[in-house]
Amino acid sequence: TLSDRLATTFKNIRGKGRLTDADIDATAREIRIALLEADVALPVVREFVGRVKERARGEEVSQALNPAQQIVKIVNDELVTILGGETRRLRYAKTGPTVIMLAGLQGAGKTTLAAKLALWLKEQGKAPLLVAADLQRPNAVNQLQVNGERVGVPVYAPQPGNGVGNPVDVARDAVEEAKRKLHDVVIVDTAGRLGIDEELMKQAADIKAAVNPDEVLFVVDAMIGQDAVNTAQAFLDGVGYDGVVLTKLDGDARGGAALSIVQITGKPVMFASNGEKMTDFDLFHPDRMAGRILDMGDMLTLIEQAEKTFDQGQAEKDAAKIATGEFTLEDFLKQMQQLRKLGSMSKLMGMLPGMGQFREQLDNFDEREIDRIQAIIQSMTPAERANPKLLDGSRRARIAKGSGRQVSDVNQLIQRFTEASKMMKQLASGGGMPGMPGAPG
Ligand code: GDP
Ligand code: MG
Repeated sequence: TLSDRLATTFKNIRGKGRLTDADIDATAREIRIALLEADVALPVVREFVGRVKERARGEEVSQALNPAQQIVKIVNDELVTILGGETRRLRYAKTGPTVIMLAGLQGAGKTTLAAKLALWLKEQGKAPLLVAADLQRPNAVNQLQVNGERVGVPVYAPQPGNGVGNPVDVARDAVEEAKRKLHDVVIVDTAGRLGIDEELMKQAADIKAAVNPDEVLFVVDAMIGQDAVNTAQAFLDGVGYDGVVLTKLDGDARGGAALSIVQITGKPVMFASNGEKMTDFDLFHPDRMAGRILDMGDMLTLIEQAEKTFDQGQAEKDAAKIATGEFTLEDFLKQMQQLRKLGSMSKLMGMLPGMGQFREQLDNFDEREIDRIQAIIQSMTPAERANPKLLDGSRRARIAKGSGRQVSDVNQLIQRFTEASKMMKQLASGGGMPGMPGAPG
């Protein structure tokens, strides 16, 4: 990953103060490779790397504890900024139904997306109408009808023997139908070709002129990589659109197409589609896409999880208890259980910027040890957990039996707990924030 690559580049730089031009060039080279590997278009890579280089010369990097991580952070920030920062929301019509038109190559995922979007809107209380304006492929209308049924949204389709063959009329009639039947959103599925072609562009442009959509969404398969830019530009020139939808993000595409398209067309990515299921669809998250382009896995998901695991409020309560000597075995058990959540994530956590320093602790983390400690504490009564001084010999024997452990295990745990709370009480009164007490091992 870029993070690893830069860490290698920077191995000897730490503490060096200002980075040399050679350091910065080496960094730029790594970023460039990472972006090209993620399918970002070359002109976009050039401009992007230029900007990062600029920032890399600044103080935020030279004064960082870990320049590699600081640069990854800058790259990430810049990516998120370009990808749009906050997601842009759909614009709804002030009066009458909101018309959303989909355009894109054949196989991009328009018909699938039409139904996913319809379901998503329905779940937000809208009453969408799907429109089959792809009359190019024999099965296209039927495919939309099947998808419409799956999500429980009606489909407006040309009637057999009734002016069939003109998608512009179908789209226009559908909007009238939506007004009559009080649908508040109309989603127009259109035809695509395997490659960019004049006739197709004209048809899409004609539909657009006929129904005057509130949003035209360009649907593009993330897997087409570098070709995405040309296609996006051709549709922008030939049809015009307001936003982009990336599909097939469940594949292994690194998502550089998103960056290229946004940078070159200036249009935001609004939605992401990531699977065959109708619910595999969401608003586009620039931060997640940045992580994907940098190949940092689900960094953000992890950070969110970690934040949940390290419940800040709980940590402060614990700290207060420790300071006043009220930290009990019950609290200790709760912390253990938090640590356990962390343990299962330890490998992934090691990948997070800033978490490298905990890597050793995380690697040495023995989950079974937690099981044993948990069993022992759970065999104690609430009174015993609150006050370990109650734990005389007969109580210890009972607890050992109840937890399937030896009395010596119980003794060891209590001793460790007592020492840890003593130590932490000292730390706390010394003003320092205590860490996790007595992590096993
Ligand atoms: P259209 O020609 O643009 O209407 O594209 P379709 O909606 O017919 O999709 C083409 C193929 O891609 C179909 O087999 C879909 O099931 C599949 N597909 C669409 N979206 C996704 C997605 O997000 N992930 C995956 N894995 N497949 C998708
Ligand atoms: Mg289709």
